Amino acid sequence: MSATIIDGKAVAAEIREGLKLEVEAFKGEFGREPGLAVVIVGEDPASRTYVNSKKKGCAELGMYSEEHTLPEQTTQAELESLVRKLNLDPRIDGILVQLPLPKHIDADAVISTIDPKKDVDGFHPVNIGNLLIGRPCLKSCTPAGIMELIKRSGVDLTGKHAVVVGRSNIVGKPVSVLLLEKHATVTICHSRTKDLAGMCRMADVLVAAVGKARIIKGDWVKPGAVVIDVGTNKVEGSKKLVGDVDFDAAKEVAGWITPVPGGVGPMTITMLMHNTIKAARAIMTGK
Ligand code: NDP
Repeated sequence: MSATIIDGKAVAAEIREGLKLEVEAFKGEFGREPGLAVVIVGEDPASRTYVNSKKKGCAELGMYSEEHTLPEQTTQAELESLVRKLNLDPRIDGILVQLPLPKHIDADAVISTIDPKKDVDGFHPVNIGNLLIGRPCLKSCTPAGIMELIKRSGVDLTGKHAVVVGRSNIVGKPVSVLLLEKHATVTICHSRTKDLAGMCRMADVLVAAVGKARIIKGDWVKPGAVVIDVGTNKVEGSKKLVGDVDFDAAKEVAGWITPVPGGVGPMTITMLMHNTIKAARAIMTGK
């Protein structure tokens, strides 16, 4: 039997309709649009594509956005000084520093400079700490998007075994915390995990965030499982993207599965918009 495809594009479009109304309401109440500042250092082509989609996303929702493009040789002090300026800018509610940054820049130090109230990527240690202890915070966008997609499967996570492959600070660890918050029993796998296939076979919910094309095979998927594929991997010699899961094989076994592209990707940007509106409201109301 073939899995139900969780269409991230359609879910994102539906959420964005709601966000449009929230932007309208915000404008009515506060007389301005929620504002996002995107900072990009250097000219990495992938980063440029991401930044353009973020700006486009803002425009489509009627939000304000501005871009700060800095040269590759920008110093740590210059970058942190721009972030501090944006922290104080009343037009700006969200600050996003596009990663990766050039090697000479300490990205953690830059992120720590962002006002946690404006940290719409949810990467600041204060937001990560609050996420861990279950306090209100700005949640990182990809993990928040993954949770929305799981919700669409209708599967109640309580008592389910969720297996997350990948333990990065931006996907694997935060999504594990969010799954735990929803009462799943969570196993986190990584490059030193023994018997990855066996771990995956026990998953009622399988989240793959590795960055290796089709590393998760179809026969690693438990029949009926919810499979969320975060990976975006370029196929050599083409512009095609593939996920971490062997989609064609896995969809014959899984109950629900996200495609690549068109799964997690569209949700990440949508959650960024959601976070910016949330940050704007919190700033204006002091809550
Ligand atoms: P990282 O490279 O930071 O982390 C990868 C993780 O995978 C690490 O924890 C690593 O383990 C683990 N890993 C590597 N090889 C193996 C293996 N053979 N077996 C088991 N685990 C392994 O990646 P990110 O978390 O940043 O991203 C993961 C993927 O998700 C990438 O393809 C990225 O492009 C994509 N992504 C997509 C987004 C979207 O919006 N669609 C957003 C963010 C990421 P260890 O810690 O031991 O090294």
